[in-house]
Amino acid sequence: MRFKDLSRLKRPKPLTITLGSLPQNILMTTYAKAKAFKISELVSVLFEKSFEWYGFTLANNDHPELIVDIGLPKNDFNLQDYTTLGPQRIAEFQESLSKDVIINGWIHSHGALNYRHFSSTDEKNHLTVLDFIAARTRKPLTKKEIAIQNLVLLEQDRFSEKDLEKGSVCLITDGAITEAKIMETIYGSFCYSIVIGDEGWHEQQIHCREKGILSGHTTVWSKAADIEFVETDKTLSQADFPSLTEEVKQKIRPHTDPPPELIERM
Ligand SMILES: [Zn+2]
Repeated sequence: MRFKDLSRLKRPKPLTITLGSLPQNILMTTYAKAKAFKISELVSVLFEKSFEWYGFTLANNDHPELIVDIGLPKNDFNLQDYTTLGPQRIAEFQESLSKDVIINGWIHSHGALNYRHFSSTDEKNHLTVLDFIAARTRKPLTKKEIAIQNLVLLEQDRFSEKDLEKGSVCLITDGAITEAKIMETIYGSFCYSIVIGDEGWHEQQIHCREKGILSGHTTVWSKAADIEFVETDKTLSQADFPSLTEEVKQKIRPHTDPPPELIERM
């Protein structure tokens, strides 16, 4: 037997149908942006020095891709606690939110430092937050054919145990069929990560995870992203300052004598 064209020997590309997509950029209301920088300002005013802080970016359930608010958990400027931004801490905060609000990422400040990058500690935190919020930001991305070698088709009530010894996967149907495609849903989840500085700069990334529901095949990736600011009716006004000041006082507890590692971990 002679093949005229070797490309015919290639496996056909698995059938893939697009159902949705993960965000390419970060969407954030101007209110949320103003609040983030106001928190930084209040931290330096209240504690007479610039300190870093962290918070969560919040969205409404029905639009997980738009950051509408900044949630401030109780910060511990304690090296151990901060570096292990663990699931329990995030869970506690999620529980304090109203049912229609979800966490879609995290934000932190590098204070007065002009260190405009994510550190290795930040990288670990991205994944911790992504892990926690993946179920909430999850959406179907594609239906993809699973190539199964040795798929055996059997008919209900018409096969023996011996038949089950054959093949890698058996599909048992209620009628006789000769061909079948198995398609799985690939779900995608995302987590936003933003770092800001007192001087008004911000850098951000989107962390994503894609997982096949049947194959379990998982890929995790991240990319630098732009922020698209969205104007809404909600603005941060003078009237908001007293309560925000009180919140910062209660939740930010600066470590006034930071060990050298504190700087390194940023
Ligand atoms: Zn950092």
